[in-house]
Amino acid sequence: MRVTMASAMTEPARTPRILLVEDEAAILDGLDALFTSQGFATALAPDGLAALDQLAAQRFDLVVLDLMLPRLDGLSVLREARGRGDQTPVLILTAKGAEDDVVRGLEAGADDYVTKPFGLKELVARARGLLRRPRDASERPRRFVVGRALLDLDAQHVREDAEVKLTSREALLLGYLIERRHRPVTREELLVDVWGYNDGTVRTRTVDVHVQQLRAKLKAVPGGEDWLETVRGRGYRFVAELRESS
Ligand code: CA
Repeated sequence: MRVTMASAMTEPARTPRILLVEDEAAILDGLDALFTSQGFATALAPDGLAALDQLAAQRFDLVVLDLMLPRLDGLSVLREARGRGDQTPVLILTAKGAEDDVVRGLEAGADDYVTKPFGLKELVARARGLLRRPRDASERPRRFVVGRALLDLDAQHVREDAEVKLTSREALLLGYLIERRHRPVTREELLVDVWGYNDGTVRTRTVDVHVQQLRAKLKAVPGGEDWLETVRGRGYRFVAELRESS
């Protein structure tokens, strides 16, 4: 193996690996050509079971997942993968007007969605955004106490009597709001810093749906439903009294 000085000193460039899951052959071919031309290594799955097999067999940096699939639908694939502890970022493809699918998909652990028919530039930009390591990933303390509840963002759970499991995106979102709890945080800021997008003005409801979902989960902790405040016209703010835990 040849190791150059430059690669020893900087992060080596690595080809991102993407799993494309889509049953319509023409679309799958198009996605394959698109992502290959953009420097991705692609793997293809024409149905849900094939997707799960691929996910079990190798590690990917991103999954583009159509929801309407034969053999096993996309939501089931997502739930199964997350249930196995697979935290690979997932971008779902939803049909125009299928708002329920968006909400269900994000609840099942998708990181974002793109509505069909989609623009190629938009899709690549979103994919690259989700690949980027969020800026907030840091060495700072990640365990906090609110009342009698313990928030462990590395272990991705909130515990009091019951344990509330968080998805990795929810843990990032919560950590970001906690660190900036002295002020409201805008959706644009969250899209750039928590989702990794270059442009925070992309049209997606992923932030709002993730916040709703997080609130619903936090209800399991006494008072938890009030931790995240909506600041009209500004964004969101973490408002509970909190201290760092060792
Ligand atoms: Ca389909």
